[in-house]
Amino acid sequence: MDPTNDKAGTDGTILPALPEDWQRCLAVAAHPDDIEYGTASAVARWTAQGKHVTYLLATRGEAGIDGMHPDQAGPLRESEERAGAREVGVDDVEFLDHRDGVIEDGLVLRRDIVRAMRRHRPEIVVSGAFTVRMVMGLTNQADHRVVGLAALDAARDAGNRWIFPELADEGREPWNGIRMVCLAGAQQPTHGVDITGEPLARGIASLAAHAEYTKGLGAQGFEPGPFLTWASKMGGPALGVESAVLFDVHQLIPDGPPPWV
Ligand SMILES: [Zn+2]
Repeated sequence: MDPTNDKAGTDGTILPALPEDWQRCLAVAAHPDDIEYGTASAVARWTAQGKHVTYLLATRGEAGIDGMHPDQAGPLRESEERAGAREVGVDDVEFLDHRDGVIEDGLVLRRDIVRAMRRHRPEIVVSGAFTVRMVMGLTNQADHRVVGLAALDAARDAGNRWIFPELADEGREPWNGIRMVCLAGAQQPTHGVDITGEPLARGIASLAAHAEYTKGLGAQGFEPGPFLTWASKMGGPALGVESAVLFDVHQLIPDGPPPWV
């Protein structure tokens, strides 16, 4: 893709800005560093507005470093994730301890996410695309697909006391307040967040905190600053701004009065 193409990422129409009339967000991802490939810059913008964002990671990313045994890589990547989160104003980072690379799609994962949603009571959920093909036609990784779809389904289950009734027994009452689930890395985004300037800079610092992990990507010449600047400039024109991160927004609660009234 050509970053100077003003139709990049869309059919040329300007996308609406993602609504920001909310206070609490839960970001759900498979691995440490997933949120940092763009979404973290939007998180920086939101925390600067006084919003509260919590990170929920399905794994510790222990299978992510070729030259390091998972027993060492797990704790290292956890600490890099916590440091990266702090760069964008996030102090709450939780891990579900599913196995990296082989996350099982199913009710155990969904229940774990529902439990966190009922505890944190977010109004929006941010996760990643669950399609096989994702932005730029890239093939989406198995854990990413599983976690993205589980997050979308869990957002609805969170409000139903008869789904996972054992959670109510734990004191986790249903939460019906999730308005939308926003998926990053989608082929056809519907909304965008302007991250021009400071949010992008903080997002770059957030990805740079994953120093040990991204060292392993060095053979491909990977550098957080140039990469995120390039990616956000590809997204910018779709929103009519310099730099943007784009999301495919799935609405759970409709805006405004019912159209049949
Ligand atoms: Zn990942």
